[in-house]
Amino acid sequence: MKTDILIVGGGIVGLMGAWRLAQAGRQVCVVEQYAPVHGQPYGSASVAALGALVPYPPHRTEEAANAQRESLATWPQVAQELEAATGLPTYYHNSGRWQWVHTPAQAESAAHAVQANSQQFSMLNQAVAQQQQPSVNVPTEGVLHCTATATVSPPHVLAALYQACMQAGVKFAFGKAEQLLRDAEHVTGVQLATQKIYAAKTVLAMGWQTPLLDGAVAQVTPVTPVLGQVVRYLLPEGMAPLTDLPMLRCGSMYVVAEAATGFRSVLVGATKENRGHDARPTQKSMQQLHNKACDLWPVLDELIPNYTWVGLRPKVPRGQALLQAVPQTHNTLYTATGHGGIGLCLAPHTGRALVRMVG
Ligand SMILES: Cc1cc2nc3c(=O)[nH]c(=O)nc-3n(C[C@H](O)[C@H](O)[C@H](O)COP(=O)(O)OP(=O)(O)OC[C@H]3O[C@@H](n4cnc5c(N)ncnc54)[C@H](O)[C@@H]3O)c2cc1C
Repeated sequence: MKTDILIVGGGIVGLMGAWRLAQAGRQVCVVEQYAPVHGQPYGSASVAALGALVPYPPHRTEEAANAQRESLATWPQVAQELEAATGLPTYYHNSGRWQWVHTPAQAESAAHAVQANSQQFSMLNQAVAQQQQPSVNVPTEGVLHCTATATVSPPHVLAALYQACMQAGVKFAFGKAEQLLRDAEHVTGVQLATQKIYAAKTVLAMGWQTPLLDGAVAQVTPVTPVLGQVVRYLLPEGMAPLTDLPMLRCGSMYVVAEAATGFRSVLVGATKENRGHDARPTQKSMQQLHNKACDLWPVLDELIPNYTWVGLRPKVPRGQALLQAVPQTHNTLYTATGHGGIGLCLAPHTGRALVRMVG
């Protein structure tokens, strides 16, 4: 098979890029190791994600903060466009966020956020916050309220993107890419177990597995896996849906009411663990998540744990570009990976940036 642009990896980065490139008139093929089941992609960090669309903390680089601002601002249109094109839901929901302010450093960062953008950020003192959400255990210091925070349902977004790609003419080949095909310094495609796919340009969007394909790529894009575990809880019968519960965030832990179930379930996550390629859930981490989440929202103790899942985030060292041309391949090979814990959030920017870079 021959194509203009070959994307290896059908997670959020690969599918968003493929969709936008196909819309821009390019002939695109996606190679993904796992075929979807009943139209539902699986097996990637993108499906495992919580779906929180959250701004950067202020200490990140300005370029990254701009990418994030642009993505957050355009997510509502992207969700609408996906839904209109496919008839499938994304469950985009503007939840708002309450962020715990415990330490002096957090208080300083919260004050900075309010000063920089008082339209999106405000401090709620304990009494006011407690009155708004009596079931939440508000800290004495209060919470930072951020209006620019939303959620999507990652499995639904992936299913819609997969459908949108097919409608836009993207071809799919299911199987594991085993090695790059080369002609001198040019990369000409990839080798799968039973076929070769040739392309003018190849983009590796394989998440944490990107460096495993090729030694030269590993040097340029040193991605490492960071394990995240998530627990879903169901509301018992008789409990009212959590339509008004904002996203609760303390450190890297979130409590998110799930729009996809009519707010009748809650996601708690995610851990950040360096365990290499080991992607098994552990009872210890689940218990720690549960205990921490109960400190914020004691109601959790009354809910029914329903399901646990894990995923490996692709992380690169700070300052490393997320999209780049691999040197000495004459613009025939690119990597698009390393989005760590914010790949969902950055997806609108990633799609546009890939078209600019490759298309
Ligand atoms: C528990 C958890 C919670 C998270 N929560 C959030 C959140 O709330 N908000 C947010 O913005 N981000 C979140 N993230 C981060 C987000 O999920 C990632 O940044 C994003 O999914 C990375 O997307 P990707 O397409 O680069 O990688 P992936 O989603 O991992 O996709 C890579 C794809 O490449 C395929 N592949 C790999 N190797 C090969 C090969 N050799 N041949 C063919 N195919 C191959 C894989 O099967 C996979 O489908 C979370 C992540 C985890 C794990």
